[in-house]
Amino acid sequence: MSGIKIQLSGLEPLIIRENSNFVNVGERTNVTGSKRFLRLIKEEKFEEALQVARDQVEGGAQVIDINMDEGMIDGVASMVKYLRLVASEPDISRVPIMIDSSKWEIIEAGLKNVQGKAIVNSISLKEGEQLFIEHAKKIKRYGAAAIIMAFDEKGQADNYERRIEIVKRSYYILVNEVKFNPRNIIFDINIFPVATGMEEHRRNAIDFFNATKWIKENLPHAMVSGGVSNVSFSFRGNNAVREAMHTVFLYHAIKNGMDMGIVNPEMIEIYDDIPKDLLEHVEDVLLDRRDDATERLIDFAEGLKGITKEKKKDDAWRELPLEKRIEIALVKGITEFIDQDTAEALEKIESPLRVIEGPLMDGMNVVGDLFGSGKMFLPQVVKSARVMKKAVAYLTPYLEEEKLRNKSDKEPAKILIATVKGDVHDIGKNIVSVVLSCNGFEMIDLGVMVSCETILEEAKKQKVDVIGLSGLITPSLDEMVHVAKEMKRLNFDIPLMIGGATTSKAHTAVKIAPEYDKAIHVLDASRSVTVCTKLLGEQQHELFSETEAEYTKIREGFLNRAVSKEYLSIEDARKNKLRVDFKENKPFKPNQLGVYTHHADVSDLKEFIDWTPFFKTWDLHGKFPAILEDEVVGENAKELYVDALAMLNRIEQENLAKPKGIFGLFKANTVNDDTIELLDENDNKIDNFYTIRQQAKKSKNAPNLSIADFIAEKDSGIQDYIGAFAVTAGTEIEDFAKEYQDNLDDYNSIMVKAIADRLAEAYAEYLHKYVRTEAWGYAKDETLSNTELIAEKYKGIRPAPGYPACPDHLEKETIFKILDVENNIDIHLTSSLAMYPVSSVSGYYFGNPQAKYFGVGKIKMDQIEDFAKRKNIPVDLAERWLAPNLAD
Ligand code: SAH
Repeated sequence: MSGIKIQLSGLEPLIIRENSNFVNVGERTNVTGSKRFLRLIKEEKFEEALQVARDQVEGGAQVIDINMDEGMIDGVASMVKYLRLVASEPDISRVPIMIDSSKWEIIEAGLKNVQGKAIVNSISLKEGEQLFIEHAKKIKRYGAAAIIMAFDEKGQADNYERRIEIVKRSYYILVNEVKFNPRNIIFDINIFPVATGMEEHRRNAIDFFNATKWIKENLPHAMVSGGVSNVSFSFRGNNAVREAMHTVFLYHAIKNGMDMGIVNPEMIEIYDDIPKDLLEHVEDVLLDRRDDATERLIDFAEGLKGITKEKKKDDAWRELPLEKRIEIALVKGITEFIDQDTAEALEKIESPLRVIEGPLMDGMNVVGDLFGSGKMFLPQVVKSARVMKKAVAYLTPYLEEEKLRNKSDKEPAKILIATVKGDVHDIGKNIVSVVLSCNGFEMIDLGVMVSCETILEEAKKQKVDVIGLSGLITPSLDEMVHVAKEMKRLNFDIPLMIGGATTSKAHTAVKIAPEYDKAIHVLDASRSVTVCTKLLGEQQHELFSETEAEYTKIREGFLNRAVSKEYLSIEDARKNKLRVDFKENKPFKPNQLGVYTHHADVSDLKEFIDWTPFFKTWDLHGKFPAILEDEVVGENAKELYVDALAMLNRIEQENLAKPKGIFGLFKANTVNDDTIELLDENDNKIDNFYTIRQQAKKSKNAPNLSIADFIAEKDSGIQDYIGAFAVTAGTEIEDFAKEYQDNLDDYNSIMVKAIADRLAEAYAEYLHKYVRTEAWGYAKDETLSNTELIAEKYKGIRPAPGYPACPDHLEKETIFKILDVENNIDIHLTSSLAMYPVSSVSGYYFGNPQAKYFGVGKIKMDQIEDFAKRKNIPVDLAERWLAPNLAD
C-alpha cells in the first residue's frame, strides 16, 4: 500500500494518496468563523446546526472542521453534544471530523466522542515542550492525527526561518520522543494576509510556499495545511479579488506540496478562468514581484468593486442623483464611493467649500436629525464621520487653493477639546470630537495629558469658542477645578464643557461652576451636539440661566445632605472594624511567594471579556448578551459586535496586541488597624499598604470597613498573605489604533481602543483566576463560568487603587515599586497616577472568603491627617489625593 499519505475515517475511510487531489476541509461548522453557526449553537438549534454540516458534506467537503471556541457557550458541552448528533447522521458522519479548539479540554472531550479517525486541530509548542508532549501522547493513544501549529514559546512563526525552526523541532520531538506516526503529522504553517500595506507582510505568501516545499523535502511523510481565507484579509468586502487570491494562492501552494486546507468552496474558482489582468495583479502581490504590487492591486480592485454578482442588487442607490448618493453614503457610513462622488460634486459646484457646506453638510444634517431623534446610534454616527472625513480630506488640497484666492468670511465655530493633565483616557473625548466635527464644528483636539497652561494658551491663540475638558480618573476632577479657576483669573468668558466618566452634574455644580460660571456638564456624546449648538447660538443665555438654576438646586441639596450625615472619628471607626475569625478561616499559604511575570495571548483572554462595558463605550446601554436582542438598539449592537469580533480576530491572528502581566504574593499582616505590612519569604520587610476606612456612622451591627480588615492582625500571631498585580494590553495595540486614526478612520481607531480596554480587564480576570487556582491556590477546585466571573462570584477580591474600596491612587506607587512594574511590563504612572498604556489594570489580591468589594464613601479630615502621618507624607499632599472623598 505504498503511496499513502494519510488514512482518516468517518464511517467511511478517507485515504489520501500521493497522487490525491488537495483535500478541502469544510469551515462553516465553526462558531468563530460563522455568525450563523454561532447563533444556532447558542440558541441550541442543533437540528439546523446539523444542516450546516450536511450542506458542507454535500458541497464536497472531505473533512469537516468543528469549532466551539466562544466565550458565551460551554465549549465542552457543545462539542460533545454536536459530535454525538453528527454521529447519528450517516450522511454527515461518513466524513472524518477535525476537532478544532484552542483548549485542550474541548479537544479531549471531542476525542472521546468522535467515531473513526479524526484530526486534532491543533497542538503546538506555544506552552512549552512538556505540555506539547503530553498532548501528543494522548492524541496518539486516541488514535487521531494532529495539526501542529507553527507556534512556539516565542510566538507564531511569521517568516521562513521561524517556520522551519519550529516545524523541525516539533517533528523531531513527535517522531523521536513521542513515537508519533509521521504520517499523522499535519503542519499548519500559518497563512498570513498579504497586501496589507506593511513592508513586513510582503513575503507572507512566498514564505509559506517555500516553507511548504522545505517540509515536503525534509520531513518525511509530514503534511501541510492552512486556513486559506486569511491571505485575502485586506480585501474583505471585495469577493471578486478574494476569490482570485484564494485560487492563485492554492495553485502555488499545492504546486509546492500543500496537502489540505480549510477553505470555503464558494470562495474559490478555477485558476484558468481568472481574467489575465487580475491574475497578473494578484500574482504580483502573492509572489512579491514588484514594489508597487499592493497599490496596483488595490487600484485594480477598486475598479472591480460593484461588478460582483451579489453586490449588484445593493448598488441600486448608485443610480440616484448625486446629492442623494452622498446622503446615503453618509447615513450608511459607506466610504467606498465617496471620493468619486465628492469629485463629481466638485466638478458640478466648483467651490470645494460649497461642496462641504452644500451636499456634505446636508447629508450630515440628516445624520444629525436621525441621531437626535434616536433613530441612529453612536457607532453609525462614527461611521458617518469617517465618510465625511474622507470627503473633506479629498477636498482639502482644493480648499487650500480656494482659501488663498478668496478669504472666506464665515468661519465655523471652534471647539478646543482635551483630556486634562495626568489623565490619558481619550475614547470618550474622541467620540465627542468626532460627533461634533460631523455637525459642522471645527475641532481642535489637543490630545491627552494636556496641562492647564497649554489649554488656555491654545484657546487664546486660536480664538476658540468653547473649551471641552475630559477625564476619567478621580484626580482629573481636581485638575478641572484648577482649569476653571485659571479661566476666571485670566478673564475668560467662553463656555467650559465638562465630560468624562468620573465627572458628574453634581461635581460640576458643586465644585466647578462656583469657580467659573460658564461651566456646564455634558453627559455624553449625543448631548454634546445640542449643548454646543445652544452654547454658540442665541439660546446661550437661556441655557445658562436654566443650568444655573439647576446647579443652585443641586448645591443646596448637597449642603443639606452633608449636614444630615454623621461621621465617626477615625478612632471610633476603627473600634467598629470588621472582625474576621482568622482562626476559623486560617489564611491559605500561597503555593508560590514572590514576584512573577505572566504571559497571555489574545486567544487566552478573549473568552474572559466582559462585553457590557464595551457597548457602554459606544453609548449603547444594556447588559450583554441581552443587548443584542434589544428592541431598540439590538440591530446596532449586533452590527457593532460583529465588527468587534472581526477586529478582535484580526488582532489575534496578526498578533497586534502583546498583553503583559505581573503579580506578586507576599506574607502580610495588619498593623495599627489600617496599615498592611508586607514581608518577603525570609520575613524581611518589603513595604506597607496604607488603607482608608469608612467613617460614615453605620446602622446597628454594620462594621466600618477597610480592606485591611480582610488581613489578620500581626498581634494575632497568625501569618496572613496578600497579593498585588498589574496587567496591560500593551503598547503595540495603541500603535495599531493610531494607524487608523492617522488614516482618518475614527470608527476603527475607537474600536481598537475599546477592545484594548476590554483585553486589559479580561486579563485582570484571567490572571486573577490563575492566581486563585494555581499560584496562590486557595481556590484550586473553582469552576466558574465567565458570567459568574463577571458577577464577581469568585472567592477573594482584587480591589484597584482609585476605586471605591481603596480610593487613594497613591498606593499604585507602592504596587509599582514592589513589582517593579515599569521595568518588568512597561506600564508607567503619570503625574495623576493614571497608568500608561491606558488599557491597564493594577490592584491587590485578597484571598479571605469574607473579603468583598465596597465603597469607602466620604471620610473626615482626621483620617486624612492620620493617613499622612502613617505614610509620612505632607498632609496637603494626602488631602489633594483624597479630596474627592472628603466630607464637607
Ligand atoms: N468586568 C468589569 C470590571 C470592571 S471593575 C470590566 O470588564 O470592565 C474593574 C476593576 O475594578 C475590577 O476588576 C476590580 O479590580 C476593581 N474594583 C471593582 N469594584 C471595586 C471596588 N468597590 N473597590 C475597589 N476596586 C474595585
